[in-house]
Amino acid sequence: MTLPLADEKCLFAAGVPQSDAIPLIYAFPNTYSVGITSLGYQSIWAQLAQRPDVDVRRWFIDGHEPLPRHPEWVGFSFSWELDYAYILQALTRLAIPRHRGDRPDACPLVFGGGPVLTANPEPYAAWLDVVLLGDGEELLGQFLQAYQEVRQAPRAAKLRHLAQVPGVYVPDLYTVTYESATGPVQRIEPHPGIPPTVTKQTYRGNALTTSTVVTPHAAWENIFMVEVVRSCPEMCRFCLASYLTLPFRTADVAQGLIPALERGLQHTDRLGLLGASISQHPEFSELLAFLSQDRWEGVRLSLASVRTNTLTRELCEVLTKRDSRSVTVAIESGSERLREIINKKLTNEEIHTAVTNAQAGGLKSMKFYGMVGYPAKPQGICRPPSTS
Ligand code: SF4
Repeated sequence: MTLPLADEKCLFAAGVPQSDAIPLIYAFPNTYSVGITSLGYQSIWAQLAQRPDVDVRRWFIDGHEPLPRHPEWVGFSFSWELDYAYILQALTRLAIPRHRGDRPDACPLVFGGGPVLTANPEPYAAWLDVVLLGDGEELLGQFLQAYQEVRQAPRAAKLRHLAQVPGVYVPDLYTVTYESATGPVQRIEPHPGIPPTVTKQTYRGNALTTSTVVTPHAAWENIFMVEVVRSCPEMCRFCLASYLTLPFRTADVAQGLIPALERGLQHTDRLGLLGASISQHPEFSELLAFLSQDRWEGVRLSLASVRTNTLTRELCEVLTKRDSRSVTVAIESGSERLREIINKKLTNEEIHTAVTNAQAGGLKSMKFYGMVGYPAKPQGICRPPSTS
C-alpha cells in the first residue's frame, strides 16, 4: 500500500536533512491507521523529523515512505504487546537478521521504545540491539548525540558507548540468567565497564505531548489529541499506566493545553483528551469551561476513560454539547470487596452517582470496563507495598 501522505496535515515544520544526516527508519509494528493514531509514535517521529542530522522515514506493516538504501538505524515504537509478532515480520521485510547476534557490522542497528518495552524489555531482547527506557522527550536527543560521537566506530564499540547513556539498555552487554527454562530471571550481570543499572528516564516538564499530524486515515479519523496528564496518582495495584509512568504530571492549561487545542482546531473539528486519569487534572474545570464555549459549536470531543468518581454532571454536559453520546468508566469489578483488595477506592454509591450524572448530563449510554481472573487467593498478592 502507498501511504496516504497527501491527506496528512502535518502540524510541525520538518527540518531539511543535511547531506550527512543519519538515515533512519522509524517503524510502527502495525498498520498505518493504528500507528498514526499513536500519540507516542507521532511525537517521536516529529522529534526525529525536525532534526537536520536525521533523515527519518516511516514504516508500517501495510506501507512505508521511500526508504534509505543503507539505513543506519531501524527503530520501533511499541504501544501494545499484541504488536510483538509484527517485529519479526518487519525485520524480515527489511532484510535484517531477526536475532541481534546474527547481525553483521554493516547491518542497521535496531532500537525500540514505548510503554511495552519500558515495562519489560526482556521478552524483546533477542531482537533489539538497543532499548530506550522511559520518556522520550530528553532521552532521544541524548541517545542521538551519543551515537554521533561513535558513528564511524565498529558496531560493538557503538553499542558499548550507547550503553553509557542513562535510559539506554543494550541487551548484548548484560548476561541474563533464568531460574529455569520457563522460570523467572535469576540474575542480570553487566559486562565489565557497563552500568549495572539502567535507569528509566522521566520527563519533568509540564508541556506534554500533542498531535503532530492529523489525517482522515487514522483509526480515530481527523483527531487532534492532547495529553492532559501523564500517569495517575491513584495507584490501583494492577495498573501499569500508573506505576510505570509515575510521578503524576499535569500539562499547563493556560500556557500549554488551551493554545494547543486552539492550534488543533484550525485543522480539524475533532479533539481527543488523553491520559490515564484526565479528570484528576487540578485545573480540569478550566479546561471544561474552555471546551464548552459556544464558539466550538460542531466540535466533537472524545475522552480517554474517566475515573468513575470524578464523572460530574458538568463534565457530562460538556461531552453532550460536544457531540459525545457515551462515556467509559473503569469499575474493574462489580464487587466492592474486590475493588478494595485491588486498591480501586470506588464504592457502589459512587458508581450510582456517576450513572446519575451521566444521565442528567444528557449522555445516552455508558461503557464499563471490568477485569476477570483476579487471583483466587488475592491476599497473597495484595499486601501493601513495603515502605521499609
Ligand atoms: S484510577 Fe485508573 S488510571 Fe488510575 S491507577 Fe487506577 S486504574 Fe490506573
